Amino acid sequence: MIPFNKPYLTGKEMHYMYQAVYSGKISGNGIYTQKCQKFFEDRYGIHKALLTTSCTDALEMCALLINIKPGDEVIVPSYTFVSTALAFARQGAKIVFADSRDDHPGIAEDSLEELITPRTKAIVPVHYAGVACDMDKIMALAEYYNLVVIEDAAQAIESTYKGRPLGSIGHLAAFSFHETKNIIAGEGGLLAINDERFIERSEIIWEKGTNRAEFFRGEVNKYEWIDIGSSFLPSEMTAAFLWAQLENIEDIQAKRKAIWNTYHRKLQLWAHRNNIRQPQIPSYAINNAHMYYLGFENVSQRESVIEQLKVQGIHSVSHYLSLHNSRYCRNEYYESDRMFPMSDYYTDCLLRLPFFYELTKKEQKRVVDGLTQANIESSSSHTIQDRYQQMAVEPNS
Ligand SMILES: *Cc1c(COP(=O)(O)O)cnc(C)c1O
Repeated sequence: MIPFNKPYLTGKEMHYMYQAVYSGKISGNGIYTQKCQKFFEDRYGIHKALLTTSCTDALEMCALLINIKPGDEVIVPSYTFVSTALAFARQGAKIVFADSRDDHPGIAEDSLEELITPRTKAIVPVHYAGVACDMDKIMALAEYYNLVVIEDAAQAIESTYKGRPLGSIGHLAAFSFHETKNIIAGEGGLLAINDERFIERSEIIWEKGTNRAEFFRGEVNKYEWIDIGSSFLPSEMTAAFLWAQLENIEDIQAKRKAIWNTYHRKLQLWAHRNNIRQPQIPSYAINNAHMYYLGFENVSQRESVIEQLKVQGIHSVSHYLSLHNSRYCRNEYYESDRMFPMSDYYTDCLLRLPFFYELTKKEQKRVVDGLTQANIESSSSHTIQDRYQQMAVEPNS
């Protein structure tokens, strides 16, 4: 069986974890935490980086940092992982969904302005598959309407927008080291603070609402409760594991890039002939080979391909049930008048291929052959354009 994902170990993880254990300092904010944070600050030009136990945590910190209160609105793409919205909903924000672009699952930048109201506090663009959203457009809107931009860079380590690293552009940004990402720590994340306004409070929120970080640096001689917060920092075990990965980032990325390029090249002709969409990378973006996905014509075509690959021992997956259609949102927000055709399209038609560091050339050839030999039932009546028309006639069908 060719799995969909297989976490890659560089070989140094246990060594550094052993070192962390025997150093006698295994709680958070120790040497390995600082090494990892400095790595992000130096390599990506992030003002201040704080390691967290997940990307979800980093997003929750953002919600606290920007003082989300019940009734505030936060604009989030519908086509994303739950956490992008959950972190803000948890503080009482009303989530206002945006649709995806039609050439890419990223947030449709040109649809954002009409979603802004006097209650809007933030926009959370997601760099899906590590492909940049058009950050100039989003930052310009934010400046004009005085909003905070929080990049969900969970999938976007090492990606760039017009040469600038993702996660260094928004006022705040959140990365993930979940085992399905390029760089992993089991569970783990990082908050990037690029706007100096947020730096001081972020450390306090990170350390249970106390000024303990200042105390550790010897800047004050007692620490106390001074704000809200939680225990957002991971132990040194997580940081030690992560450090082994970060040290090998060049090698990991080179390998992933090669896999991505092979899929892209080998599937080109087949995709073109069968009207299947390959990822489109805007000219302003360099992607980090986080995943390889395809866009089929309709849900039955995609499901049939998943089945045909499965028979050959190849595990491919779909993901993201549009959040606007989730059970939670259907109960919580009644937005029946709004439609999200592109988000629904990606929910129905996107397929992710096996993608991991140790995928061999032979295995990748099996995936490519499995696809190109699959029986693709083309149904000209289910193109994206038809879907648009159908939805215009039957809202919410
Ligand atoms: C993985 C992911 C998250 C959540 O990351 P965790 O570290 O598991 O909390 C959030 N947003 C997106 C877009 C993701 O891909």
